[in-house]
Amino acid sequence: MSNKIGKLIVFSAPSGAGKSSLIKEIISQSSGAIQLSVSATTRLPRDGEVHGKDYFFISDREFDDLKKKDSFVEHANVYGHQYGTLKSFVDEKTISGIDVILDIDVQGFDLIKDSIKNSISIFIIPPSLAELEKRLKLRGLDSNEVIEKRLMNAKTELKYAKLYDYIVLNDEFNKVLSELKSIIFDKTYESNKQINLNLLKDLLD
Ligand code: 5GP
Repeated sequence: MSNKIGKLIVFSAPSGAGKSSLIKEIISQSSGAIQLSVSATTRLPRDGEVHGKDYFFISDREFDDLKKKDSFVEHANVYGHQYGTLKSFVDEKTISGIDVILDIDVQGFDLIKDSIKNSISIFIIPPSLAELEKRLKLRGLDSNEVIEKRLMNAKTELKYAKLYDYIVLNDEFNKVLSELKSIIFDKTYESNKQINLNLLKDLLD
């Protein structure tokens, strides 16, 4: 057993970005070196979700108790439900040398970004932004209510995207997967953060 302390790998993305499938694949290819942090949440399980595997599904009261006991690395309210990263879970894994993926929202990352050392943070730009980009390039004929809402969301997300070490455009699963593997396993990945920030800026102008 090595004395290596596992690192934290933070993943954030707007909903629908395909983040979960990428995370699953990275974990399955890591031969046990990387595990997913299982958060606590007050939202109800969806079909097929398992307590202790996908989340610890708990009541508001239990969540508040954990908050009082300072049991969270970070916690946030996302779409009206509470979500929190459990210190006990993360510590147990990292102390055993396992790298831990935190799949958390931008507010959660904002809370911990200055205090986590030994970490990598990755912001995934969803395919829907790429679709949005294509439409905007067709000279803005798409300025309807839906596009407006997407732009508003994208603007908020852009503000946070800058805070991450890497910004990765999820346009093609296998390509993105190999970029993520380079970031995480090889550290050979040339950060294209600026390019993708520019892409986001173009979208928003
Ligand atoms: P979902 O309910 O679809 O599983 O997750 C909704 C959002 O909550 C996602 O953006 C996910 O990253 C975020 N989330 C899940 N667990 C945590 C957590 O422990 N902390 C924070 N801040 N966000 C979380």
